[in-house]
Amino acid sequence: MLIKSAEFVMSNSDVAKCPKSRLPEYAFIGRSNVGKSSLINMLTGRKSLAKTSGKPGKTQLINHFLINKNWHLVDLPGYGYAKVSKSAKKVFQKFITQYFLLREQLVNAFILVDIRHKPQPIDLEFMEWLGENGIPFSIIFTKADKLKPNAILRHVEDYKTELLKTWEDIPIYFITSSSKDIGKYDILNYIEQLNGN
Ligand code: GDP
Repeated sequence: MLIKSAEFVMSNSDVAKCPKSRLPEYAFIGRSNVGKSSLINMLTGRKSLAKTSGKPGKTQLINHFLINKNWHLVDLPGYGYAKVSKSAKKVFQKFITQYFLLREQLVNAFILVDIRHKPQPIDLEFMEWLGENGIPFSIIFTKADKLKPNAILRHVEDYKTELLKTWEDIPIYFITSSSKDIGKYDILNYIEQLNGN
């Protein structure tokens, strides 16, 4: 899939106020600083569509972007940032939970994980929760340029081993680097395939 247009639609913290259109939707979520904004900018070929944040945890909204006028890319807030207060975390959990449970247009969630780190409980628990609620997801490993090829393979294998403790199958996963433009078309073509065109 080539990106012909990418437009910001709206930001809000209430799933009921998300766009009413029935366009298929793909959500991107991960721990703060995982490289989500950079990935969205790589995918869309726009330098600053998503704001790469100097201040992790600041963008606490559901952000809709209309891509090629026929699907929505949804940038969800980063989770697991320690400096957000407990009450802010609760509010955050609530609206994100509501988004995933109520948003019928959602076709697939992409969970971003930094390829350099060992599998983190917060990510594994989130995937578990998605699975329990029947929400399809894929994993996007970010920042692959930071590791040598054999280390990439080793880290992915570690992740698979961890996942197989609770899952029967490994979800589809993508290895990416926004700074080296790696993985862009794997993800875009996957979305195109799910969109059925
Ligand atoms: P977000 O908080 O998840 O949206 O993360 P950002 O996209 O703002 O990125 C967080 C930091 O990681 C920034 O300093 C980025 O420059 C850096 N970063 C993001 N993606 C990559 C990547 O693919 N490779 C490298 N080396 N750094 C990256």
